[in-house]
Amino acid sequence: MQDFDAVIIGAGPAGCQCARTLAKSNHKVLLVEQHENFEQNNFSSAATPLKTLEQFNLPETIVGTFWQKITIVTNNISRDWDSPERLGAVLNFAKLRGFLAQKVQAYGGEVWLGYRYVKYDRKNDRTRVFLQRKGGDLILVTTKVLVDATGFTRAVIYPSKRDKPSFLKGTGIEYLIEVEEQNYTKVSNCLTFFLGSKWMPKGYSWLFPMEHKLLKVGAARIHGEHLKIKQNEPLKKYIQLLITDYLKTSNYKIIDVHGSILEYSPGLNDIYYQDNIIAIGDAVSTVNFLGGEGIRHGMYGAEIAAKYIQKYLCNQLSSFKPYQKEMKRYFSFKWNLSEQISRKVYLGYDDSSFEQKVSTLTALKTEDLIDILFFYKFEKAYKLFGGYLKKKILFLLQNLFR
Ligand SMILES: Cc1cc2nc3c(=O)[nH]c(=O)nc-3n(C[C@H](O)[C@H](O)[C@H](O)COP(=O)(O)OP(=O)(O)OC[C@H]3O[C@@H](n4cnc5c(N)ncnc54)[C@H](O)[C@@H]3O)c2cc1C
Repeated sequence: MQDFDAVIIGAGPAGCQCARTLAKSNHKVLLVEQHENFEQNNFSSAATPLKTLEQFNLPETIVGTFWQKITIVTNNISRDWDSPERLGAVLNFAKLRGFLAQKVQAYGGEVWLGYRYVKYDRKNDRTRVFLQRKGGDLILVTTKVLVDATGFTRAVIYPSKRDKPSFLKGTGIEYLIEVEEQNYTKVSNCLTFFLGSKWMPKGYSWLFPMEHKLLKVGAARIHGEHLKIKQNEPLKKYIQLLITDYLKTSNYKIIDVHGSILEYSPGLNDIYYQDNIIAIGDAVSTVNFLGGEGIRHGMYGAEIAAKYIQKYLCNQLSSFKPYQKEMKRYFSFKWNLSEQISRKVYLGYDDSSFEQKVSTLTALKTEDLIDILFFYKFEKAYKLFGGYLKKKILFLLQNLFR
């Protein structure tokens, strides 16, 4: 039976980055993923600001394309914010995880693809982890630290689905389509977001450029009742609408259809650790619910976790409580505010609210819009949300320091 310092379940961005960091520090690491390869669950649109590449030392080979413009479209208006410089990238999600997993191996770690985590138990002071290949026998490994990086399923930290508390849920579906040159050029350097009842009630839809002539067309909504809008068509209907009504083409080929669920713990009340088990990434709600962006946040949280795992392995730490504390310090304020704004916007706004808010945004400089959308600097949006935002910020600050 093989023994490891850390077994990390789930080779998403968070699990991969945690394994990469630990393996680089010479710890004996096993990264486990249920899918046979990274193309199989290539679900994320993977848009990110430019800073992500430098922050996590990622090469340009994992970039689908760069973007330097944002467009927001409502039922009746469309507004652009652009820059002469690159503002961000749309990553190739499969290549991102493939690159990180290769790094784990290059630093001496093991990566087992096609192995599903089944359960763990404790015997003679060791944590035994039970893994299984499709249709195969159970395989046992032992570890000092077990990491839950299974995303929204939280498969390790909640052994039974019945134990899970209620989450704020969202569902997203995306088509990867191949289009003609002129259609690709129209949107090739731009992230386009669509808001309002026509495009995507209770959420938003999007059109992102990928590699040459490939576009990501997606739609996502949060689960819950909208105050005013009742219609609820399947997500695919809204994706088709973007292709026919916005791209205005019938000449396209669907290359892939993928999607996933997000489950976010309101108030960040996830379980962060239990004895020698530690949860990271979407398993502790690092995805920001306002824009559904979670790759770099999951990777950053994974680096925080890796720091404490190393201390634990070197007997400098006996509990992961300081990990939870640092995560809460970093995420709580902005994430709680984002969650509340997303409920207000996606489950409260009608079409005229969207038109009015997007018109107000027009006055913002591109860098300010990026600060709001990607760095959650909501103070730059006071004009947009006025008294509501001030009240919320005050309320959250009072609770944070109580
Ligand atoms: C449609 C959609 C679009 C998105 N677009 C963006 C975007 O543009 N930009 C952005 O930054 N974020 C985006 N996100 C969010 C982002 O993809 C996630 O926040 C991020 O992937 C979370 O990383 P993670 O490693 O925590 O979890 P995940 O990426 O979910 O990885 C978890 C891994 O664990 C594996 N796993 C689960 N259970 C087991 C098991 N029992 N055994 C073995 N393996 C298991 C899964 O197969 C998976 O590979 C999007 C999400 C969705 C759904």
